[in-house]
Amino acid sequence: QKKLLLELRGKPTVTSDGKEIHLCANVGNIGDIAFAQSNDADGIGLFRSEFIYLGSKDYPTEEEQFQMYKQALQLMEKKKVIIRTCDIGADKQVDYFCMDKEENPALGYRAIRICLDRVDFFKTQLRALFRAAVFGSLSIMYPMIISLDEVKRIKEIVSEVQTELETSGIPYAKHVEQGIMIETPAAALISDELAREVDFFSVGTNDLTQYTLAIDRQNGKLDSLYDKHHRAILSLIKMAADNAHANGKWIGICGELGSDLELTKTFLDMGIDELSVSPGMILKVRKRIMEL
Ligand code: PEP
Ligand code: MG
Repeated sequence: QKKLLLELRGKPTVTSDGKEIHLCANVGNIGDIAFAQSNDADGIGLFRSEFIYLGSKDYPTEEEQFQMYKQALQLMEKKKVIIRTCDIGADKQVDYFCMDKEENPALGYRAIRICLDRVDFFKTQLRALFRAAVFGSLSIMYPMIISLDEVKRIKEIVSEVQTELETSGIPYAKHVEQGIMIETPAAALISDELAREVDFFSVGTNDLTQYTLAIDRQNGKLDSLYDKHHRAILSLIKMAADNAHANGKWIGICGELGSDLELTKTFLDMGIDELSVSPGMILKVRKRIMEL
């Protein structure tokens, strides 16, 4: 079985009727990239940048982040790398952020909400990203979006960052693909408006499931209710896919559901363009897609 899977390395991920799917890897640190490469990932569909924050005792500097992102891009040798901006909060806490204790952290101060509140902190990461983008094929993705205003504010901040880099004569990439995660029901429901403002969507099914079913993704007691195939979730994904395509944008799935082989056909029927899965699942998903 393993040998048969290994024979799929180097093969394109194409259905029997000729539709090519971009099959990427989710990574949580630089070490995972070698694993993604050895499993023949077409790119990195989700680079969880939080590890840089979780692994440090104080705010990582722009230079530290720049080196890390540059290394990731170079290791992927021109293949696309989608780096998600800081998704701290909820289940991922760091002491030096000095955050107030919250009753409901999953519904609280996290991810893009922190970035849009602490703009200097956000700008440090964006500067590092736009500088690193010179060294490969970078896309940037923003987590936990719920509104059009957030997207517009991100764009303003990005344009300030680019102007600042330009005036300081620091090399940076002017054109970087930028997308958002669809991981709240709100984002899926207004995906018609959001699709006009971004280059792509990537569905975070872990949080989308948590927020749609109102079930804490970490509460094992509720496992039997955590129905990943719930029609409500699939409807939200389909809605986002239709709205992305109606606006000429592409859509991927980077949550765990992306590697659920029982749903591969459903996702292809929806026209999903990219699946990003843990490196160990890539060849299994490729095999499934080639059968369809
Ligand atoms: C998700 O929510 O599905 C996702 C990919 O992000 P994370 O699991 O890091 O919250
Ligand atoms: Mg998430």
